[in-house]
Amino acid sequence: MSEDLFLKIIDREIPADIVHEDDDVIAFRDINPQAPLHVLIVPKYHIRTINDIEQKDEILVGKLFSVAKEIAREAGYAEDGYRVVMNCNGSAGQTVFHIHLHLLAGREFSWPPG
Ligand code: 5GP
Repeated sequence: MSEDLFLKIIDREIPADIVHEDDDVIAFRDINPQAPLHVLIVPKYHIRTINDIEQKDEILVGKLFSVAKEIAREAGYAEDGYRVVMNCNGSAGQTVFHIHLHLLAGREFSWPPG
């Protein structure tokens, strides 16, 4: 068993509501949604935080945004708008140490974020 929660989802050791999967990326609904649409877009390759992203990972990290864009479009939020967020370490609120993009849509978002 992996200690990485998201690797457990990738390996189907724990269930998730998966909305997209390909060879590189998995996306599933957040268990504690902060908006009507709240999906986590996760690389299958383990990268602990943004600080650990290397040059070889740039295409993979870019793909997270492409998948987010496509999920938002399919859900009908392309024109209305949506937010993508990636937290890094404690002060930003990262709780799962396997990088993931939050895709949030379906309500108004304030700026600056809390
Ligand atoms: P972070 O705080 O690291 O940026 O985001 C981690 C996210 O993972 C949180 O929004 C949290 O609700 C979500 N999460 C934590 N455990 C689970 C789980 O077991 N399943 C799913 N689908 N989401 C989870």
